[in-house]
Amino acid sequence: MMDSQALDLPEPVAVIGGGPAGLMAAQVLAAGGAPVRVYDAMASVGRKFLLAGRGGLNLTHSEPAAQFVARYGPQAEAIGRWLREFGQQDVTRWAQSLGIETFVGSSGRIFPRDMKAAPLLRAWLQVLRRAGVQFSMRHRWQGWDADGQLIFDTPAGSQSAGARVVVLALGGASWARLGSDGRWMDLLAPLGVCLAPLQPANCGFDVAGAQGKGWSDYFRKHHAGQPFKSVAISFTDAKGQRFDRKGEFVATETGVEGSLIYAASALLRDEISRCGSATFALDLLPDRSLDLTPQKPLAPRWHQVGLVA
Ligand SMILES: Cc1cc2nc3c(=O)[nH]c(=O)nc-3n(C[C@H](O)[C@H](O)[C@H](O)COP(=O)(O)OP(=O)(O)OC[C@H]3O[C@@H](n4cnc5c(N)ncnc54)[C@H](O)[C@@H]3O)c2cc1C
Repeated sequence: MMDSQALDLPEPVAVIGGGPAGLMAAQVLAAGGAPVRVYDAMASVGRKFLLAGRGGLNLTHSEPAAQFVARYGPQAEAIGRWLREFGQQDVTRWAQSLGIETFVGSSGRIFPRDMKAAPLLRAWLQVLRRAGVQFSMRHRWQGWDADGQLIFDTPAGSQSAGARVVVLALGGASWARLGSDGRWMDLLAPLGVCLAPLQPANCGFDVAGAQGKGWSDYFRKHHAGQPFKSVAISFTDAKGQRFDRKGEFVATETGVEGSLIYAASALLRDEISRCGSATFALDLLPDRSLDLTPQKPLAPRWHQVGLVA
């Protein structure tokens, strides 16, 4: 976080990328007194953010901070330091500062009360404009010219712009039609910038069926599209890292997706890239101890679910 001293800048800070990361950077910079201009390749900002609103816009989680930070896996230490500066409650307070009330869902996740992204984005943009943030849309950043000027492809042709400080907030490489296509990697790699390869996260998986990928015809016909609520998954990877969590997920035509799967997705992804597949155990009755199981026979309680790349 910046302190609130005004920056003495002859040129604006260029924030390239108007997703939530870029908008938040713009808000903090403007609050610190910097002149800010947000550039985006698309005709309007926050397109992926708006799509996230279709699923209710999960803003953060109400679980204890240590449990929340653990979700970041190998990055937990670094991200934990940032979250001490701006954590779960700060996100909620920030939404409230925009006039957006929030609630804690049954899963512990926190959402805007109306479960929409558009009102939040509208209020956010008003706050940014009032703070003097300027916007240049349909400006696709293409790197720097020999004089160190930013180069943009625009509907009026190639344009250059000066910036004393540049914040790159260009997103990942999924849902390219919403703006983030990962092509910025090709601009930075030749400059010697150290880049971690982009990998899918928060993703669904295909299930390894008896005849290759996918569920059996029977399962697909009866269960594809159905939620599995209040179940638990347990997964131990080849390195012995264990993941146990209760929650819910959805069976898709070919596999599984949803919040419980997303929480485990980085571990499952890494296991699949190491070993070609991953298998987790699924408990359909996690709230019942074995002692409480009725005398009449039930379907086997633990099920193995194999996933493939
Ligand atoms: C279906 C779906 C549901 C989701 N649900 C949730 C949810 O409930 N909660 C949650 O927290 N997250 C959710 N997400 C994830 C969330 O949308 C992303 O994590 C978030 O948008 C990332 O923000 P960002 O600012 O880093 O990148 P982005 O939102 O991708 O923004 C990057 C911006 O950079 C611009 N850009 C890229 N390259 C250039 C260039 N060369 N020049 C100029 N501009 C460029 C793009 O146009 C884009 O506007 C969901 C995502 C999807 C797809």
